[in-house]
Amino acid sequence: MLEELKKLETLQDVDSKIFNLEEELDTLPENNKALEEQIVEKENKIAELKSAISIQVSEKEKRDEILKKGEEKLKTITGKQSAIRNKEEYNALLREIDAIKRLNRDLGDEIAEINKEIETKTEELNATDEQFSKEIDGFKKQIALNTKRMEELDKTIDKLYDDREKLTQNIRQVVYRKYQRILETSPNGRAIAKAEYRKEKDTPAYGLCLGCNMKLPPELYNMVLRATRIEVCPNCQCILIPGDSHHDNSKTNSEEGK
Ligand SMILES: [Zn+2]
Repeated sequence: MLEELKKLETLQDVDSKIFNLEEELDTLPENNKALEEQIVEKENKIAELKSAISIQVSEKEKRDEILKKGEEKLKTITGKQSAIRNKEEYNALLREIDAIKRLNRDLGDEIAEINKEIETKTEELNATDEQFSKEIDGFKKQIALNTKRMEELDKTIDKLYDDREKLTQNIRQVVYRKYQRILETSPNGRAIAKAEYRKEKDTPAYGLCLGCNMKLPPELYNMVLRATRIEVCPNCQCILIPGDSHHDNSKTNSEEGK
């Protein structure tokens, strides 16, 4: 059975690699999605700033147009002065000129105000655009790296599954099925754990499951060392295999047997 257990150990190495790589592969699409969302968010923010500016620009253009008409009107009216026949008409004309001038001045003030806002917003847009462009570039690079990594992982995992297939063909079916059952329910991709010999001062020696750090009952540890059949850890359910320090176990056996 020890031979079969050694094969399971090799299989576990492959399965652990597959488990870790698949875990990594699982995180990458999520990661890319989050990055893409951040890009859209930043692009939207830029678009919002641009649209706010274009609204201001069109407000300004409307006022420019009105002001232009106002100035033309002022010119026309001022030109009518020669046609005035009396003081009343003259006063009326002056009042009209004043009114138009006041209107034009107010428009000019508004236009100056809007210009200032356009300038401030444009500065904000430029600064934001510069910052966001760098960030978006960074996100895009990361997305490309992630995509490349996903392709690599797919290939590596495929190859590991091929390796696995070859390994499993040499393992006794009943042993492999037991292993597979444990692996499928394992939360960490492990179906094999070493049982290591431990001896501390003033306490009897014992076997430790390296899968979950549980002290194994002496009779179970002895069975593991004998390796005549498959033993599992009562705590983590892993198949126990003799650890690297099991060579000096003949002594342990006799001690624990007492
Ligand atoms: Zn255990």
